[in-house]
This record gives sequence, structure tokens and C-alpha cells, in this order.
Amino acid sequence: MKKVIVSGMRTTGKLHLGHYLGVIKNWVKLQDDYDCYFFAADWHALTTKYDDTNELRQNTIDVITDWLACGIDPEKSVIYVQSLVPEVAELNVYLGMITPQNWVERDPTLKDMAKILKTKEGQGSQVNYGLMGYPVLMSADIMMMNADLVPVGSDQVAHIEITRDITRRFNNLYGEFFHEAQPLLNECALICGLDGNKMGKSFKNDIKISDTEEETAKKIMTAITDRSRLRKDDLGHPDECEVAFKYWQIFGSDEEIARVKEECEKGLRGCAQCKRELGAKINSILAPIRERRRYYEQNPQLVEEIIRTGSQKARQRAGEVLDKVKDLVKIYK
Ligand code: SF4
Repeated sequence: MKKVIVSGMRTTGKLHLGHYLGVIKNWVKLQDDYDCYFFAADWHALTTKYDDTNELRQNTIDVITDWLACGIDPEKSVIYVQSLVPEVAELNVYLGMITPQNWVERDPTLKDMAKILKTKEGQGSQVNYGLMGYPVLMSADIMMMNADLVPVGSDQVAHIEITRDITRRFNNLYGEFFHEAQPLLNECALICGLDGNKMGKSFKNDIKISDTEEETAKKIMTAITDRSRLRKDDLGHPDECEVAFKYWQIFGSDEEIARVKEECEKGLRGCAQCKRELGAKINSILAPIRERRRYYEQNPQLVEEIIRTGSQKARQRAGEVLDKVKDLVKIYK
């Protein structure tokens, strides 16, 4: 029996290289060794985007199309949409009943989400009820599939602590049933945005998986370099090249990185030329992903079928788990 993994992504728009390198690339590897359940978290998107839902449905399709393009294989993994598995909402109710308020308030997920909400114009510091419940809903997502493992970055281990607490509380109250999901650490490259800050759509510093070659090449030309370097033959400092050299270290081969470093330090490489080469390099790595993306874009019925089939599979497992939960809680059936 393979161990079960659950992981999801909020459906707030097309994905960028930060998502690919930090999350999806790892998922692609995991799907060979585990029973993977990957979900598009449209309810979680609503916790902060409740006032602008025009693109919510399309965002869900875009996120899943990006996953497929990156190599998430519906033959190996269950790909589903959170709202197409209503059992999650029901489990969320039962878990909400046993979760003390102060557990939710101290949860780092809620704090991160509250930050997003605070930046919304006119929101002040208001946190809506749905957002307050975000950590419980996240726990319901994980426990719905009775997951063994949740892939997380080293900075996110604390995020699933509440799920483990809720699991223990449920098992103590009603009887041992749920697995206590363990964090599975990602060994992923972290990529900053073109301006050196965290990569994000709202910061307009991202490169999207769905960007064209031309768009990517153009964006790379805006990447921050060694700020002290004014002319091509100035001696460069790759370690102080805030973005471009960091990208080389992620995407280049060992030989390429060594060559860029040496030529930069000797003043033999201009930043414009360096970034042109970097753009070509990144485009060559993304070429097969973009080709797959085009294929799915041209066959939207295929994406729809994958979503429906995956969500049915997820519902089946969710139904079994929920049935057991109802027995344990002794709810009327
Ligand atoms: S030559 Fe390349 S590595 Fe050196 S500072 Fe310019 S962009 Fe950065």
C-alpha cells in the first residue's frame, strides 16, 4: 500500500515559475511513489477573493492546465477541484466543532491569509468568518483523504501543526481513525521575482508558465543585476547580481554557471547579453512544458474530463472517510 499525499493550490490565477520550481516539480516526482491527491483550492481562493469571482472558474481551469503542462499525470495522480468534493465542507463542520478558537487564532496559515486580506483596499484589519476557518478547512482537505503526508517547504512545517492537533483531538474524542499527517519536506529551489522580491502575480515580477517565449525573454531583460556595474567591461560581482545570476544558478548547468561567473568577474560579459542568453536558456527548459500547455489549451474538453474524473475519484475516497466519521461521531445517517 502506497502512502497517501494531499496537496493543493489556491486558484487565484495562472501559475508562475515560483509555483513550478517550489511545488509542482516536487509533485511530479512524488506521483511515482505515493498515492497523490492534488486539488485546486477554489474555496480557499474565496476566503480572500469573495468580492471578485468573475475569473474564479477560469482560474481553476488555468491552474489545473498549468499542472498538466508541468507533468502532473492524471493516470498517476488524482486531480480534483475542492468544491466538486462537497464532503470536504461536511467534514469541515465536524472539525470546526472540536477546534478551540485559540488554535485557529495562533495558526500561521491564518496570519498569512490575513496579511493578504489587509492589503485589500478598504478592508482595514477585518477578517471574515470564512478566513478565520481557513486552518480548519485546510485540515478537512488533508483529513478528507486520510492523508499520511503533506509536502511542505521547510518554512511551512508549522502550517500543518493544527491539522495534527485536530487529528489527535478527533481520535481522542471519537476513536482512533485518522492518520496523523506528517510533513514531507520539499528540497526545492526558491526563485525570487525579477525585482529581487518574492515572486508573485500581484507584484508584477513573475514569469508565468503560460507566458510566451517572447514575453519571457522580454521579462528577463528587466531582471536586476549587479547594481554597481555600469559598463560592459566593469569587473562584475556575480554574488551581488541580485536576480540574473541567481536565475543562472537555478537553470544553468555547472559549466554554464562557471563560465558566466568567470566572464562576469573578468569584465568579459555585458549584462544585456548575459540576460539574453539567460532568457534563451529558460525558454529552452520551458519549451516542452509550453508545448503540453498549448495542447491542453487547444483541447479544453480534455481538461474538463480530467477534472470531472479526478473529482469523482476523490469523492469516492471522501465518501468512505465521511461515512466512517459519521459512525464515529454518531451522527444520524
Ligand atoms: S554579467 Fe550576468 S552575472 Fe554578471 S552582473 Fe551582469 S547579469 Fe549578472
